[in-house]
Amino acid sequence: MRLSRRSFIRSSALLWLGFFGFKMRREVPVIRPPGATSDFLARCIRCGKCGEACPYDSIKFFDISAGANVATPYIDPLETPCYLCLKRTSEGKDEPLSDYLLCGEACPTGALKKIKNDRDTLLSLPDELKMGISVLNRDICLAWQYDSCGECYYNCPLRDDAMLDYPPNEVITGAVGIRPYVNEKHCVGCGMCNYVCPVNEKIAKATVEPGRKLTYFEERYAAMVRNVIGKAGREVKLPAVRVVKRV
Ligand code: SF4
Ligand code: SF4
Ligand code: SF4
Repeated sequence: MRLSRRSFIRSSALLWLGFFGFKMRREVPVIRPPGATSDFLARCIRCGKCGEACPYDSIKFFDISAGANVATPYIDPLETPCYLCLKRTSEGKDEPLSDYLLCGEACPTGALKKIKNDRDTLLSLPDELKMGISVLNRDICLAWQYDSCGECYYNCPLRDDAMLDYPPNEVITGAVGIRPYVNEKHCVGCGMCNYVCPVNEKIAKATVEPGRKLTYFEERYAAMVRNVIGKAGREVKLPAVRVVKRV
């Protein structure tokens, strides 16, 4: 059977979409806002005050299908990460919006602890009060594979402490650009890297949607994203850098 050029493009695109749909599973771990205590579920009275206080609308609430988690707060970094109550100035500096992280300050029961909004405090936060930890897959990272990108490094609010531009204690032959590296000790799991990483399902699909005009950002990374995902195998988890719960 002969296909017209249009049908061919359409069926190729659908094949890609099916391929991605099968391969890419979106996992949304239960990431709590910063300062959640180990007895969070027992302490949270589902008042919603943390969400009202968040200036970035980063906090969402589980619906009734979430069982015991119903009406409790969570953060989905792919939708809106936690901005750590910082504001980026036109000079590219991150400045605190408040003396304390606003969600913890608003929490009436201490389910979210009150955390001072300064870099030193955030860098020395006990692990149990962090939102999670970011994990980076070098096999699908555009910086590691193609000497490109670096969005995660440049956008990390704790850049050069939580996210480094090169792994310590490693020598990488032929490295020209940066090689992002998550420093477990300081990463608080805000999800900013997760949010900005272009190796994501949305861009992968956008590249094969018939008639879809790519944005400048999508266009810049589209070919590389398709290549790394195509090479990665069946069970690839996206994006290339993702926040997971600390264990
Ligand atoms: S720390 Fe600030 S930006 Fe992050 S979830 Fe809490 S209120 Fe929102
Ligand atoms: S989650 Fe990513 S952006 Fe946030 S502190 Fe960790 S490395 Fe930085
Ligand atoms: S944003 Fe994603 S692709 Fe880009 S350097 Fe970071 S992990 Fe790699």
